[in-house]
Amino acid sequence: MLVFLRPCDINGIRRLDTIYLKNGPQSDFYYAHLRERIRFVMMECTKGFDTCFCVSMKSNVAFDYDMAVRPGHDEVLVEVKNDDFIRYFRPDLPQTEFTPEFVQENTIKVTVPACDSRCCIKFMITTKSENTTSVWMVRSFAITTLSNWSINGRNVMALDINTKAAIKNAYRITKVRGKTALRIRIPGGCLPAKHFDLLKHIAEVYGDGLVHLTTRHGLEISGIDYAGIPEINRLIMPLLQDIEIGIGVDIHDPAMGYPSAGTRNIAACIGSRVCPFANYDTTSLAQRIEKEIYPNDYHVKVALTGCPNDCIKARMNDFGIVGMVEPQYDYQRCIGCEACVKNCASQVTGALSMHKGKVKRDKRRCIGCGECILKCPAAAWTRNPLKFYDILIMGRSGKKNPRIAEEFIQWADEDVVVQVIKNTYRFIDDIFLNQWHYNCL
Ligand code: SF4
Ligand code: SF4
Ligand code: SF4
Repeated sequence: MLVFLRPCDINGIRRLDTIYLKNGPQSDFYYAHLRERIRFVMMECTKGFDTCFCVSMKSNVAFDYDMAVRPGHDEVLVEVKNDDFIRYFRPDLPQTEFTPEFVQENTIKVTVPACDSRCCIKFMITTKSENTTSVWMVRSFAITTLSNWSINGRNVMALDINTKAAIKNAYRITKVRGKTALRIRIPGGCLPAKHFDLLKHIAEVYGDGLVHLTTRHGLEISGIDYAGIPEINRLIMPLLQDIEIGIGVDIHDPAMGYPSAGTRNIAACIGSRVCPFANYDTTSLAQRIEKEIYPNDYHVKVALTGCPNDCIKARMNDFGIVGMVEPQYDYQRCIGCEACVKNCASQVTGALSMHKGKVKRDKRRCIGCGECILKCPAAAWTRNPLKFYDILIMGRSGKKNPRIAEEFIQWADEDVVVQVIKNTYRFIDDIFLNQWHYNCL
């Protein structure tokens, strides 16, 4: 793709390249993927506009381009720096000397103060010796209060924040300037109560005193200054140790906080630890899946629901995992009361019917909810000890194309559930990285 830009824009792209490609040990995958496909054509700019101040910013001159153009009345001069483009020009076209010229003066003049003693530098130095979070701060965040900037002699203030790094670190961009919100993952929605003291401390000391319960069973602490991020990341280390690393999630450096926020918290209904209708321990399965898919930048939503009641609204997720049970009938114990039959007809799918005083189950209509087991006064229905799941896929909310998930596999076992989700992440890898690597059970 060819993008036509002015010199100042090309210098802006260089800044973005530095932020997304050279800022830390790993480049930003999405940015790099896009950037590889783009070539720049610089449009010569010698006058600028009334609002330009590129000369003050030293962004009036650019050299990082593939071609440069100077439009004339009936011709266009083209400087071709990237040899890949030479073949697109007819060899018989006249060749001439053409070196692009640049703006030398703007109407607006901006004074940028020397930054040797400003608060941003002080902050980096004072935090550097304290702990490893300082490295993160230097690398990922340039939070700079620029109180000495001026435009045409008039003072201005600015706040420069690497929002992409903040989002990846599980901090939300908020409506309040200079304030962020920390997002806490709780896979399965079950948080040991011992962590509430820490969350209260962060909310009251660093935030605005509020903790929001998110729709995906996470927590969000709002009103946090960006400058407080390194310290908060250090504070939440025990929580990460317990509810992420403790279940097997690989977090390289917990002192840096969450390593990604793309893959959303795995939400779950309360499951068999509390609910009598649940067909499995939703928290345990959520933790197993979390271990397989986090950390990850892909925006995938997984929700687990203990039975077909679907209290978690699993059908609005990329993956909805519904617990199923296979009811097993003991002909001898059945007293023919019809309680199970009536309940299945009125509450579920009408999969049961009476035949000569005994119950018959239509397997095609049975959704494995297990209500018949709960209703039977004679324990004629019991649970198959094997656990089964209904895998629903491709549900989503959102402004564009919201849709209810479709059934993908019924009566799947737990390994199949986990492998299907893992394979989907790999499929996404394939699309972005052109790497093919699937696992079969
Ligand atoms: S979905 Fe089923 S198991 Fe989960 S809370 Fe609701 S009724 Fe209970
Ligand atoms: S498991 Fe649910 S759907 Fe199946 S027979 Fe029992 S009550 Fe009916
Ligand atoms: S509820 Fe139990 S005892 Fe009554 S009909 Fe159903 S299986 Fe038989």
